[in-house]
Amino acid sequence: MSDVKAKKLLILDDEEEIAKILGEIAEDCGFSVSLSHDAMNFLSILDNSYDCIILDLMIPGMDGVDVIRSLSQKEVDPDVILISGADRRTLHSAQTLAGEYGLRIRSVMEKPIRIADIRSILSELFEKSANVPRLKNSNSGNSRFSFNAQDLYKAIQADQFVLHYQPKIDLKTGKVEGFESLVRWSHPELGLVYPDSFLPIMEKETKILNAMTDKIIDLALAECSKWKGMGKEFRMAVNVSPVTLTELDFPERVYAKVKEKGVSQRDFQMEITETSFLENIRFTQDILTRLRIRGIGLAIDDFGTGYSSLKQLHRFPFTELKIDKSFVMDSLEDRESLFICQASIDLGHKLGMTVVAEGIETKEVENLMKEAGCDIGQGYYYSRPIPPEKIPEVLANFG
Ligand code: C2E
Ligand code: CA
Ligand code: CA
Repeated sequence: MSDVKAKKLLILDDEEEIAKILGEIAEDCGFSVSLSHDAMNFLSILDNSYDCIILDLMIPGMDGVDVIRSLSQKEVDPDVILISGADRRTLHSAQTLAGEYGLRIRSVMEKPIRIADIRSILSELFEKSANVPRLKNSNSGNSRFSFNAQDLYKAIQADQFVLHYQPKIDLKTGKVEGFESLVRWSHPELGLVYPDSFLPIMEKETKILNAMTDKIIDLALAECSKWKGMGKEFRMAVNVSPVTLTELDFPERVYAKVKEKGVSQRDFQMEITETSFLENIRFTQDILTRLRIRGIGLAIDDFGTGYSSLKQLHRFPFTELKIDKSFVMDSLEDRESLFICQASIDLGHKLGMTVVAEGIETKEVENLMKEAGCDIGQGYYYSRPIPPEKIPEVLANFG
């Protein structure tokens, strides 16, 4: 028996000619293709056997946004390509919304579609779905696997949480100035599980999140200290959810860990990833202020989105501003995104902060960020987050 399962793709486009052409290209790329010309039919056919869907946003009767919403309520998890004749901003808005509904948008294309473009994205997706376990990069809201607090607690006990490290590059010198540590769950059966699949559950169970945060701080400090021992010093950042910032002894505990590992507090930094409403803003302010008094760096993460706002910037003693990657990634095609990056850089500098552009994926975007005066760059252009054994390679490339 062969265990190679056909990769299935479903196309929704009311223009039959276009659907047919897209279908032929997809078949060329290896997919087994089904076509649908109306939304109700599409939703009734779609089940979790499909690996990929192409969705036209302009469908008579039920529009693409209705379809996106309905998709998010179904037990399916396909890669999604959005196509539309609508203008770029509408398409961008639909894309953002789809992401918020937990869909995995792989590409967004304006009609008329170039055959070379769709062929290239489809063959990439075909390769990917053939090689990569489906759970990778899955979104918590849409994942086929769900974990409970007990699973996560056991995983902490079994030391299954590991850190990967992504370099932060000094845009003036081109050298590594530090690493951001990002947690992954090394699951015995599922392989690497990404934080989107378990952090939201942890954030509801503060005890578990606190236990994990303690472990990752230890891991990151141990890594930093190991390199210091070999004469290489760089900054190390960990991500901390403000949900964990409720224990008033947190600053002392962290400071003691930093000193115990022989790391300079100036080289240790926390990125505050704010996703939820702060229940006790005074506690958070108390804790952040006392971390700063001890010399530990504080970054405001995902600046420009959600709660990472001007008010937080004013209120808390941040030393670094990380522009949200959505603005950086769009900055080449979208003037407004570039303006937002530029304004954030200027604002950060006026407030005496170091500014980081996250999500740099190309040389062109790196150039834009350099021209805008940004201090530090981070993103796939330099390196994806890597396991610790690959750090020497990155240091050699950007040393
Ligand atoms: P974040 O802190 O904003 O981290 C950046 C995320 O963007 C990472 O995803 C990283 O892999 C990804 N990324 C980096 N460069 C690029 C790029 O050029 N293009 C694109 N498309 N993505 C890029 P990851 O590792 O899946 O982490 C997701 C989020 O989970 C993080 O967002 C952070 O909020 C949270 N997180 C990660 N590790 C921890 C942790 O140890 N503790 C806590 N509390 N949260 C964590
Ligand atoms: Ca971060
Ligand atoms: Ca971020």
